[in-house]
Parts: sequence; structure tokens; C-alpha cells
Amino acid sequence: MRKPLIYGNWKMNLDVKQSDDLVRSLLAVKLEHNVVEVGVAPDFCSLSTVAKTIRDMGAPISVAAQNISQHEKGAFTGEVNVDMAMTAGADTVILGHSERRTVFGESDELINEKVRLALRCRLNVILCVGEILGEREAGVHTEKVLYQLGMGLKGVTTDRVGNVVVAYEPVWAIGTGKTATPADAEEMHAAIRKFLSRLYGPVVANKIRILYGGSVKPDNIGALMLRENVDGALVGGASLNADDFIKIINYYK
Ligand code: 13P
Repeated sequence: MRKPLIYGNWKMNLDVKQSDDLVRSLLAVKLEHNVVEVGVAPDFCSLSTVAKTIRDMGAPISVAAQNISQHEKGAFTGEVNVDMAMTAGADTVILGHSERRTVFGESDELINEKVRLALRCRLNVILCVGEILGEREAGVHTEKVLYQLGMGLKGVTTDRVGNVVVAYEPVWAIGTGKTATPADAEEMHAAIRKFLSRLYGPVVANKIRILYGGSVKPDNIGALMLRENVDGALVGGASLNADDFIKIINYYK
């Protein structure tokens, strides 16, 4: 069985103190880590502080970088490499987020380079895929998402893909208050799993977690999680509020 995973993506919203305060609020609550796995993705400046607080408290909360460079080292002003992210305390990296794709122009090829580099360096990957509104309206959403997934996983071998979590985040649902219906999410997640099964076989595909992201809130998480192929959530806005995020983590209660 796949263990549910609830991940908070804090994006570029909190400074170091606010990030540390937020993680301390989460740590103050008794979460049932044997039932749901939890992770947070702070900004680079806050990453080591947040990771240290989690380590000091001995909590099994995963920490993700929100991006890494495709380069290993060198003259790349403003970039953060995989070693830096891992030394700061990241065990995971979010790659291919729609904001990286659309705002920063990251291509499928670039995302694939980053995915392969991260996995080679033993950094887990949350690979994000998702269609824009026009693609859904034109009925090409599944095709688009599977294309992004195939490109993102190009060259990723069966023994490495176990370190990948897929996050389906329809772009039209991110930060808009519009969520895909549980049925829409399940349809896409099932298509993603079928595709993974074609690439890696059913045994491996059945172990890969597929998260839903896009306006996940305490009042819609329960219905999403009832679906067979929805294994968790990548939460933006609602993860910035400790009470809301805790409610989302405790969706099953
Ligand atoms: P919102 O939950 O704010 O819609 O953001 C989703 C997201 O992009 C998570 O990575």
C-alpha cells in the first residue's frame, strides 16, 4: 500500500523566522507519522534553519528544496546546486513546478536534466506535471500531462524511479481557489499510473505516489483522498497556515 504524503510548498512567502515559526507550530502538534508522511518545502534561505529544527526535534518530516540547478558546480550566479541543497538539509527537491515552467521558462528537457542529476545524487524528486486551462478545454489535458511525465522521466531507470513522487497540478487550479473535482483528479492520476506501468511495470508503478496539487484546502482534501490513485497532496497557500495544514494532514480523522 502507498503511504499518503502531504507536502507543503511554501513558495516565496516566508522569511527565515516565519518559516522556523511555522515548522515549530507543526512540530508542536502530535502528528501520526505512521499514518501520513509529511514534508515541507521552504525557500533556500530558510532551508537549513527549518531542517535543523526538524532534526533537533527528531521529527520524521521531509524537507524539500523548491528547485536546483542542472549544473553541478561553477560560474552560475544565483543558482543553487544539488550538494548545496542536500548539505542545507534537503532530502527531496520539487522539480518541474508549473511556476518554474511558465514564469521561468523551464523546458521539459531542462527539467529532465535536473531530475536525473537529483536522482543520481540520491535526492528524492517530486516531479510536477499539469495542463493549462486551454489544454483542458481543448480536451488535450491527458496527452499534455503524459508528455510532460514521459519527458521528465526520460532516462530514469526502474531502480531510480522509486525515489520519484509525481505531483499532478492543473495550472488553472493553482492559487485560484478552483480545484479539480475528485473525479477529474482520479481520472488523471489513473492515466498517470497506467503510463508509469507501461514504462516501469505494474509492480513499480503501484508503489509510486501521485499527489494532487491546486487549491487543496481542509474542506476538499477528504474527498480527494478517497480516490484510489490520489496518494496525497502538494499544498501551496493552505500550507502557510499551521492550523489549515494540520487539518489537511489529519484529513482522515
Ligand atoms: P495552491 O495550493 O496555493 O493552489 O498551490 C498549489 C501548488 O502550486 C503547490 O505546489
